[in-house]
Amino acid sequence: MKLYNTLTKTVEEFIPREAGKVKMYTCGPTVYHFAHIGNLRTYMMEDVLEKALRYAGYEVLRVMNITDVGHLSSDGDTGEDKMLLGAKREKKTVLEIAEFYKNAFFSDCEKLNIKTPDIVEGATQCIPEFIKTIEGLLEKGFAYVADGNVYFDTSKVQDYYALTGHSSEELMVGVRDDVTEDQSKKNKSDFVLWFTKSKFDDQELKWDSPWGVGYPGWHIECSCISMKHCGEYLDIHCGGVDNIFPHHTNEIAQSEAYLGHKWCNYWFHIHHLNDETGKMSKSKGEFLTVSLLESKGYDPLVYRFFCLQSHYRKPLVFSYEALDQASATFNKLLGRIARLSRDGEVDCDFVKANRERFLGAIGNDLNTALAITNIYDILKANTNDATKLACLADIDSVLSLNLVRDTEEKAEGVAEKTALELEIEALIAERAEAKKSRNFARADQIRDELKARGITLVDTREGTTYTIDN
Ligand SMILES: [Zn+2]
Repeated sequence: MKLYNTLTKTVEEFIPREAGKVKMYTCGPTVYHFAHIGNLRTYMMEDVLEKALRYAGYEVLRVMNITDVGHLSSDGDTGEDKMLLGAKREKKTVLEIAEFYKNAFFSDCEKLNIKTPDIVEGATQCIPEFIKTIEGLLEKGFAYVADGNVYFDTSKVQDYYALTGHSSEELMVGVRDDVTEDQSKKNKSDFVLWFTKSKFDDQELKWDSPWGVGYPGWHIECSCISMKHCGEYLDIHCGGVDNIFPHHTNEIAQSEAYLGHKWCNYWFHIHHLNDETGKMSKSKGEFLTVSLLESKGYDPLVYRFFCLQSHYRKPLVFSYEALDQASATFNKLLGRIARLSRDGEVDCDFVKANRERFLGAIGNDLNTALAITNIYDILKANTNDATKLACLADIDSVLSLNLVRDTEEKAEGVAEKTALELEIEALIAERAEAKKSRNFARADQIRDELKARGITLVDTREGTTYTIDN
């Protein structure tokens, strides 16, 4: 698998530290408002990445935080806590706001076929971990206390701007919000690890700490939640390009200062969704959400298809005209797939060869546009319909566009094979092939992957059957 690495600024072969296993971390949402479809583009492409890694045979552990405290209105640690702003706006408590928008976020994800990461943890659940790491940073001389807050001293790290490739002055402009500079900082780029003092003294959620009652900064969350579940080394860290500075830059600085070694080898960033005027802003015009698209009659998966048609490293321009076009193309495609008959035997060699073709596209820096053309190649191929359906079901485990739908057939009461059945059959056949050619690792991998999805293979003298857990 080849991926663009923001850290080295090149497309590289992705090699996790431990063979076959990937530890992946994703910055989660700040749950103070509905998610904008631009943010959801990021989660969607991270979902494709995770599924592509699994498709390529890796075992993936994916962790995501939920920011429910400490993310101020400017990413540069100034302004008011976004959660508190949300609570004031809706006259609710911060916890009520967090619960409501967390559920709304996962409901949007479900509509877009974005899988929930293996571990999701709220910042408010990890306060002891934050305190322990901050204490460690103070002990090692990478942090200092000034006027009640604990700050990270960026002048103590070697290559603070490694991820951005730029140096200080120009970047600080990008930190957003025209707020006054914090006079307690030693260096302009220092950031808050723990707040006890803020101009806004009505912060709802506060905890005891060695430095007084307060709350954590935003950046420390991700480092600690990642270390808690993935240990000292992370293989790949993902987020939107907005997160490169200051958020991810700060994560690297504090994690490596605390651990005393390199922390994460690959950094994966997804570009913005723009409108025709430039970057989409939450403050101007319509606030674009999945619900809004639904209310206008769009299937949320049309938005997924729209995003997959372009590369994650390019800004994507959103307009309703472009979405309409994607919708027409998508529906035509679904129509062609629906007309395939389900008879015939699956040609496993063909499915296997197609797997390679699909991996060639998706494994080439996640070229989803090329992966979409694989759908057309399958439809045009010189093979029977059952094989085409098996291929489509197979690649849909990454694309997640519900390409093979079986509701109509079921309504007619015809006992035909579902997409899942076709996929399992193709995998059983591939496993038999693998065993024949003494590739037991692949055979076991297929069995284990199905097992993880609740599908147990049963080998009998007559061949392999399976059971599905409820
Ligand atoms: Zn983060």
